[in-house]
Amino acid sequence: MSLSPWSSRSRPNSLAAFARAQHAIPGGVNSPARAFGAVGGTPIFIAKGAGQYLYDIDGLRYLDFIGSWGPMILGHAHPAVVKAAVETLQNGTSFGAPTELESRLAEMVIDAVPSIEMVRFVSSGTEAAMSAIRLARGHTGRNIIVKFAGCYHGHVDALLVSAGSSALTLGVPNSPGVPAGATRDTVVLRYNDTQQLADLFAARGDEIAGVMLEAVVGNMGLVVPTPEFRQELRRLTHHHGALLIYDEVMTGFRLSYGGAQELLGDLPDMTALGKIIGGGYPVGAYGGRADVMKSVMPAGPVFQAGTLSGNPVAMAAGIATLNELKTNPPYARLEAQSARIEAGLRSAAQSLGIPHQINRVGSMWTFFFTGTPVTNLDTAKTVDTQRFAQFFWLMMDRGIYLPCSQFEAAFTGGAMTDANIDETIAAAIESLTIMAKN
Ligand SMILES: *Cc1c(COP(=O)(O)O)cnc(C)c1O
Repeated sequence: MSLSPWSSRSRPNSLAAFARAQHAIPGGVNSPARAFGAVGGTPIFIAKGAGQYLYDIDGLRYLDFIGSWGPMILGHAHPAVVKAAVETLQNGTSFGAPTELESRLAEMVIDAVPSIEMVRFVSSGTEAAMSAIRLARGHTGRNIIVKFAGCYHGHVDALLVSAGSSALTLGVPNSPGVPAGATRDTVVLRYNDTQQLADLFAARGDEIAGVMLEAVVGNMGLVVPTPEFRQELRRLTHHHGALLIYDEVMTGFRLSYGGAQELLGDLPDMTALGKIIGGGYPVGAYGGRADVMKSVMPAGPVFQAGTLSGNPVAMAAGIATLNELKTNPPYARLEAQSARIEAGLRSAAQSLGIPHQINRVGSMWTFFFTGTPVTNLDTAKTVDTQRFAQFFWLMMDRGIYLPCSQFEAAFTGGAMTDANIDETIAAAIESLTIMAKN
């Protein structure tokens, strides 16, 4: 039996494990993207990860382009990270009192990210984004938060708003359980739409606490901001006294050691971090201008707390990860390898006449099945999700584990070899050739 009509491989153990999980866990998973719902199938269950590979419980090996949806830039079970975590946990795993590890990781983050002068650790990217907008509101004394359709900031009530394509509409929640009141002060705009942004600031600039965005978007597939859009964001927020908040939970320490903002040369007021910063453990962080961060309790009045915040094992894993990224930077190699994947996929799709777009920044990339350039959520929605599902499973059957949705970025992993890149391109050519014939 196969996990999907698109797959020709049998994975009986994963099928059984998923059936069992569905009795005890809603939908069988603890985060919906893991369920493979978007590609018409059911998930593989992981037995272990090592370096660039995942092994499922049916004994199949996959080259991992998900990396736990971002954190595992060094690959799985990196020896330096394992060592740091094990050494730390032997001395106790949580104290509810400060440790020096927290200051060490904070100093590394401040050193790495150009705009961050102070930082507070939390336990997830969601918590980082949630705390960042509370701080923006508390610090400015204003209520409105601006976000962009297709950007994901975790499952924060106030940010769980999808786009109306109509301009300047106030947000409508996109999950039951989020009351309209929770999103009443959230305004959703189109990504890369500079005019819409300027119009909103002209009308309501003095009510806007902050503007939050993914500086390079990974969560509608990879979407790149235009230079004008970024410049206007900085100019308008500064002019109107609103805070510019970059959500770098995905891009931080990924696009460069200092994240998207270092790569692009931008200076937001605040930044949300997560994923890589915890080296595979639950960590998030929000940081920024010292005067803003000093509004956080107990330095200031804006409340935010956490029993496991700054957890020593997670801090140690984060320190080891950042240390490795700083002393042995993978970024130039990741750029070269990802550029090869991009070129390989593009030339295959072109020669086979398959409509496609490839968006890429460094090691983050998405192969979209559409002929329309993808610059925002509306254009992302022009993709052929059926074709993507078929491509996804053809790649799975060839041992290449891509994100199970068109609206996600793939991550080239720091542990991948040049031979791995060749295998990936060969598998893609084979898969696209099969698709072109059907
Ligand atoms: C993953 C992600 C989040 C949420 O982080 P969690 O740790 O899953 O809560 C927020 N923002 C962005 C840009 C992300 O990619």
